[in-house]
Amino acid sequence: MTNTKHSTATTAVYGSEEMMRPAPTMTIPEHPTTPEIAYRMVKDETYAETQPRLNLATFVTTYMDEYATRLMNEAVSMNYIDQTEYPRVAVMASRCINILANLWNTPEKGESKTGALGIGSSEACMLGGVSAWLRWRKLRQAAGKPYDKPNLVMSAGMQVVWEKFCQLWQIELRQVPLTREQRTLSPKEAIKLCDENTICVVPIAGVTWTGLNDDIEALDKELDAFNKATGYDIPIHVDAASGGFILPFISPETKWDFRLKWVASISTSGHKFGLVYPGLGWVVWRDKSMLPDEMSFSVNYLGAEVTQVGLNFSRPAAQVLGQYYNFIRLGREGYHDVQRNSMEIARYCHQRIGDMECFENYSSEVVNPLFVWSLAEEYEKRAKWTLYDLQALLQQSGWMVPAYSMPKNIEDMTVMRIVIRQGMSRDMADMLLKDIENGVAELEKLKYPTTSRLKWEAQEKQHGKVFTH
Ligand SMILES: *Cc1c(COP(=O)(O)O)cnc(C)c1O
Repeated sequence: MTNTKHSTATTAVYGSEEMMRPAPTMTIPEHPTTPEIAYRMVKDETYAETQPRLNLATFVTTYMDEYATRLMNEAVSMNYIDQTEYPRVAVMASRCINILANLWNTPEKGESKTGALGIGSSEACMLGGVSAWLRWRKLRQAAGKPYDKPNLVMSAGMQVVWEKFCQLWQIELRQVPLTREQRTLSPKEAIKLCDENTICVVPIAGVTWTGLNDDIEALDKELDAFNKATGYDIPIHVDAASGGFILPFISPETKWDFRLKWVASISTSGHKFGLVYPGLGWVVWRDKSMLPDEMSFSVNYLGAEVTQVGLNFSRPAAQVLGQYYNFIRLGREGYHDVQRNSMEIARYCHQRIGDMECFENYSSEVVNPLFVWSLAEEYEKRAKWTLYDLQALLQQSGWMVPAYSMPKNIEDMTVMRIVIRQGMSRDMADMLLKDIENGVAELEKLKYPTTSRLKWEAQEKQHGKVFTH
């Protein structure tokens, strides 16, 4: 390259030779550069990405107030596991566990409740799953019965972590299909899949695919009768990734938690409706007896005796500070206010979208601040577009609103989803709805079907449907 020399501290960032070279992709650069240039190169790499708060696809927190952000930034160098240097962080984490256990109506007495933190619900689900598997194995061993064919029962509306869990621990995953009529886990169908090898049933509070809640109270009742009749001890792990921070504030009378007899453990995402930046998850057990000893590891780390339950070792501590800050800052009332607003805005969007001729909501109720909808059946027959086309149009105005096909058994159904989180106001919802209306108006002007529509028709034709355009 002509006329370039090594950048110095006085080189203008965009006058530097680095800005004229492709960013490193395979090998480490030979020479250092200034922090300003390095900063811009990394920052610019992310420039084209959506504004986080216009991303209605994610469940993960994209807004925290300035004090929370400051607190977490100041803690960016803290390693959670280093309890010699940061003993108070572990104390704060156990306070958060106590607070959650009490929010979820734990029966456990004593000053410290049994739980653990993870990078997200995924790690928390794994820990809940492993504990159920080890408890089951111990019972089988004690009874002199084989313990080589464990299985787990849940709805096909599960999040991918459960597939991972079953794959990694070699547990058979028994899925109860969802149908157009049965939109959440059917307790009766779940029981039909249970047997002596079932380590636990996993209902979901806040199904990722639909936003609905499995009926955990009904499941607990069915399971109670089944366990009584068979002599089994099949427990429940509740995957409350979203619901764990919604139900206690929005619907405290709903029984889904430790008030139910067979609920042995509950997991949630601190970084979803716990309102903390990623990554933070929590799992709480009913009491100490539900957490197998084999899951606690005591190590002497840098001079402190650390007893740890978790898949990770080192991890950032900032999220724990963020969670504890939120509990103090918001209190029960504050969490209620934030979640209520999200719920109201979700219900408002749900109603406006349901009122549009071309759309049909998947469910008439909104029980978490998210919902899915599809093209109305009649409209879909003659439309020249699909929800994937609308997704692409909305992206042009910065919104990320995902379209996807539903799980096995109803996979021919395409839906669109929005998750309303802290940071989305009613005014922003109106902007989104306007953009959806404009997008639909534009798509309705199409003379010819879009590529994604043709692809969909080709699939439908395989099922004997006929289209004329
Ligand atoms: C998001 C989610 C998970 C995974 O949680 P992460 O916090 O992203 O690891 C698990 N289960 C359900 C129901 C979820 O919605």
